[in-house]
Amino acid sequence: MSLLGRAQVEAWGQPKHLKGRGYVNNISLQACIFCKIARGELPATVVHDEADLLAFRDLSPQSPHHTLLIPRKHIASLDDLDEDDGDLMGRLMLAARDLARRQGLAEAGYRLVANVGADGGQSVGHLHLHLLGGRPLSWPPG
Ligand code: AMP
Repeated sequence: MSLLGRAQVEAWGQPKHLKGRGYVNNISLQACIFCKIARGELPATVVHDEADLLAFRDLSPQSPHHTLLIPRKHIASLDDLDEDDGDLMGRLMLAARDLARRQGLAEAGYRLVANVGADGGQSVGHLHLHLLGGRPLSWPPG
């Protein structure tokens, strides 16, 4: 496991007692790179922007089209969703559908992926969906 992965798993393993005080699972919201992108403090190629959702190009694209969709609210991973995040997640999925249509991916098909935790290959501790398309994608993933 990478050092980053180990650090994040250790952080994720900690109690959520800091929630609501600028921390989620002991990760400072100031330090989260996707929170920084959502606040406009880090550059990104934004392709969709609404009040509580954002989509931007992945820095290291794995297919001709590779976009990340995030809630602006800091949620560390799918495993950290609360029951009342259902509406937000539904809108995130609809935003992915609309973006795929706008990018001309819907007819040929595409893949929507959420990596969760260390074994899932998650490297950024802010919930995100990968929208991948523009070429045939193999299965199963590595
Ligand atoms: P995951 O491994 O599922 O956590 O995905 C994180 C993704 O974030 C990777 O595909 C990275 O290439 C991407 N990424 C990391 N930093 C940035 C950034 N500053 N802007 C855009 N994409 C990024």
